[in-house]
Amino acid sequence: MNKTALSLGFGSCPRCQKVNKMHNERQQCSRCHYWFHARKPNSIQKTMAWTITALVLFVPANLYPMMVLNTLGKTESSTILQGISAFVQVGHYPIAIIIFIASFIIPLGKIIGLFILIYNVKHKTNINLKRQSHLFHIVEKIGPWSMLDVFVVVVMASVVNLGFLSNIEVAIGASYFALMVIATLMAANSFDPRLLWDNKPLTKEQVYEQ
Ligand SMILES: [Zn+2]
Repeated sequence: MNKTALSLGFGSCPRCQKVNKMHNERQQCSRCHYWFHARKPNSIQKTMAWTITALVLFVPANLYPMMVLNTLGKTESSTILQGISAFVQVGHYPIAIIIFIASFIIPLGKIIGLFILIYNVKHKTNINLKRQSHLFHIVEKIGPWSMLDVFVVVVMASVVNLGFLSNIEVAIGASYFALMVIATLMAANSFDPRLLWDNKPLTKEQVYEQ
């Protein structure tokens, strides 16, 4: 009772989920022969590095123009925020809200969520472990959705280009944004949620679930 699978000498295979008796920190799964670690090596350091990278990339993603609009020979570039306020001014609230959620709420929420998870593992916070696990799954699942933003720009570009009066080109800010999304995906991928449970003893049922 009240032990993690690892402390009992077991580890689950990330590929086929089989619970293996661990003889070493890294070993082969007895069922699917996949080599795996009891815990992802240097998980916290890697997660931290990718999360800081994402945070740094968030700055140019918002400072540099996301798109360049050419209307009747006039060239206008627009950052994410300028784009949002432009949509608000013409009353396209749903698009403004989608862009705001995809470009601010989701990426910042992910970055903050990752910092919270890193903090909790480092400081062995064992309150609300279930909620922490949920937080990780949200962070993990929500990642690709922030690409919605780039998608919106691309769709807008094609819609506007159909109007023949103006054309939109995707600008450098979009590249920083895409890199930031990739960095947060890497951060979530480097994080080993099992580390959260190392903070707290598990019940017997949870040991066998793992
Ligand atoms: Zn396996």
